[in-house]
Amino acid sequence: MEPNGILIYGEFTQNCEIMPVVNQLLTKARELKEKIWNQRICVCLIGPRINYENIISELGSYGADDVIIVSDDRLKEYNHNYHPEIFTQIAKKFPPRIILIGATQQGKEIASYCATKLETGLTADCSDLDIGENNLLLSTRPTFGGQLTADILCSTFPQMATVMENIFKASAVEHSANAVFNWIDTDTIENRIEEINKIKKVVNTKDIQNAKILVSGGLGACKDNGFALIYQLAQRLHASVGGSREAFEKGYITKAQQVGQTGKVVSPDIYIAVGISGANQHLTGIKNSGKIIAINNDKNAPIFEHADIGIVGDLFEIIPNLIRSLDNKEENNDK
Ligand SMILES: Cc1cc2nc3c(=O)[nH]c(=O)nc-3n(C[C@H](O)[C@H](O)[C@H](O)COP(=O)(O)OP(=O)(O)OC[C@H]3O[C@@H](n4cnc5c(N)ncnc54)[C@H](O)[C@@H]3O)c2cc1C
Repeated sequence: MEPNGILIYGEFTQNCEIMPVVNQLLTKARELKEKIWNQRICVCLIGPRINYENIISELGSYGADDVIIVSDDRLKEYNHNYHPEIFTQIAKKFPPRIILIGATQQGKEIASYCATKLETGLTADCSDLDIGENNLLLSTRPTFGGQLTADILCSTFPQMATVMENIFKASAVEHSANAVFNWIDTDTIENRIEEINKIKKVVNTKDIQNAKILVSGGLGACKDNGFALIYQLAQRLHASVGGSREAFEKGYITKAQQVGQTGKVVSPDIYIAVGISGANQHLTGIKNSGKIIAINNDKNAPIFEHADIGIVGDLFEIIPNLIRSLDNKEENNDK
C-alpha cells in the first residue's frame, strides 16, 4: 500500500484530556496538507473506554479528518508495554506518509520504538516543519547545543518527526472529524503482560550479592514502567536486579534487592545504575563493584563521579536502544 496521509499521536493528559501539543501539531499539519495534495490528517488515540465525542469534535476543529480510537480499560494510563506497540501496529496498518509526535517523554519513547520497528528515520525535537523538494518532509531542529539549526529532509517512509511543545500555535477552524474505532486484538496486551511476568521469574532478585552483573534502578525508573525496562535489560544480560532505597520505598523492589548502607553491599563485575543519583548511602553499597555504568539524565548527578562509563540521557530512550542492540547482536550471532 502506498504511504498516504499524516498520522499524529494523540497524547492524553492524566485526566484524559488532549495534550496541547496535539492541537499544535494538527494546526501545522493543515499547513503541510495544503502543500501536498490528497493527504488526510489522522489522530491516533490510545486510551480507556470513555465517551470520545467531545474529544473527536475538538480534534476535528483543529483539522483532524479522521480519529482512530484504540480503547481498552487497561490503556487508562500510559504504559510502556502497550502504547508504543499499539501505535506502531496502527502505523503499519495505515501506512502514513508522515508521522508527527509531540516531543514529550511519552512521545519520545513512542517515536523511537515506532521508528525502529518501521525501519525508518526519525528527526527528534524539531522546531519547525515544512515540505521540501520532491514533496518530502523538511524538519528543522537545533544543533551544536542550539547555536545552529539543521534542515533535515526525510527520504524514508513514513517520514517521522517529534516536535517540541509550544513551538507551533494551535488555531481552530470550522471542520469536523470522522471517528474510526479500532478494537485491537487484546492478545497484544496480554502477551506483553505475560512477557514481563515471565522475565520477572527468570531474573534473579534474591541473591544480588553474588551477581556478576547487577542492573539497579532508582527513583528515575519508578515511573511509566521504567522497572519493566530494567527487568528486560537484566534478562538480556543474564543479570540480577537491584535498586536504591527510593525504589524499595516506592514498592518496585523488595528489601532483599536494596543496595546501600541499609541494604546490601554488592560486588558485581558490572554494576549498571539506572536513574540513581549516587547518594553516599547508595555508593557505600557499590564501592566493591568492578565497573560502574551510570545512566542518568542529569549530567551533574554525583553517580557520574564514581562511574567508569557514564551515559547522560533519558533511560526511556537509552534502555530500549540498548536492548535492541543486544537483540540484533544475538540475531547476527545466530546467523
Ligand atoms: C540513614 C540513611 C540510610 C540510607 N540507606 C540507603 C540505602 O541503603 N540505599 C540507598 O539507595 N539509599 C539510602 N538512603 C537514601 C539516600 O540518601 C538517597 O535518598 C537515595 O539513595 C536516592 O535514591 P535515588 O538515587 O533512586 O533517587 P534520587 O536521588 O531522587 O535520584 C533519581 C535520579 O534519577 C534521575 N532520573 C530521573 N528521570 C530519569 C530518566 N528518565 N532517565 C535517566 N535518569 C533519570 C535523576 O536525574 C536523579 O539523579 C539512606 C538515607 C539515610 C538517611
